Amino acid sequence: MSELNYNQLVSSQPDYETSDSEVEMYESRKISGESTGKDSGLSDIETSNNKQSSREEMIPAIAASYRNILKQMGEDPNREGLLDTPKRAAKALIYFTHGYDLTISQVVKNAVFNEQTDEMVIVKDIDMFSLCEHHLVPFMGKVSIGYLPTGKVLGLSKLARIVEMYSRRLQVQERLTREIAEAVWEAVSPAGVGVVVEACHMCMVMRGVQKINSMTVTSSMLGVFRDDSKTRAEFMSLVRR
Ligand code: ZN
Repeated sequence: MSELNYNQLVSSQPDYETSDSEVEMYESRKISGESTGKDSGLSDIETSNNKQSSREEMIPAIAASYRNILKQMGEDPNREGLLDTPKRAAKALIYFTHGYDLTISQVVKNAVFNEQTDEMVIVKDIDMFSLCEHHLVPFMGKVSIGYLPTGKVLGLSKLARIVEMYSRRLQVQERLTREIAEAVWEAVSPAGVGVVVEACHMCMVMRGVQKINSMTVTSSMLGVFRDDSKTRAEFMSLVRR
């Protein structure tokens, strides 16, 4: 049984609060082609330069739209504090949705290993930040992934990269959960995959019902995790804290 807490595994996981410096960091990384991953192999960012530049080109049009939104709200986009806001917001949005730039083959590249093990692999509590596609506000939380290998294993940091790839898009939690499970399935053809996502939705916290501490939990079970209640129960008991 290999059970790992992701935060122990990769202690330098960046925290993804928005700030201009991070957006700028993201951009300079793209320009210099510097690797963003901890593992060897090509970084996902540098292998998708064409898509990157085309998304970069969206910034002026998105900024113009944000400027318009400010006006429609009755704000003055020319007042000092708002002058650079449309461009900053546009860059932030491009960053929040950079998962569109990644493909599963880029993400798992060079990190599928032959390994004769049939012990369950679990990585718990991977940080996740996404945008609710219904309200365009954040939802964030933790993702736990388990799978039962049949000869192939995935580099552990790649599970976090898969989470990043699908969460950095406009999402609903149910689809995000299923897409992560299907990606692991596709990457290593395991006997089964289980994914549990626990998240807090700002569209619930900040509006409407205003349930500050409510968490939404979703799960996706494939293969033996779906068919065999014992395997599923073992996984669930290991990811439950
Ligand atoms: Zn929402």
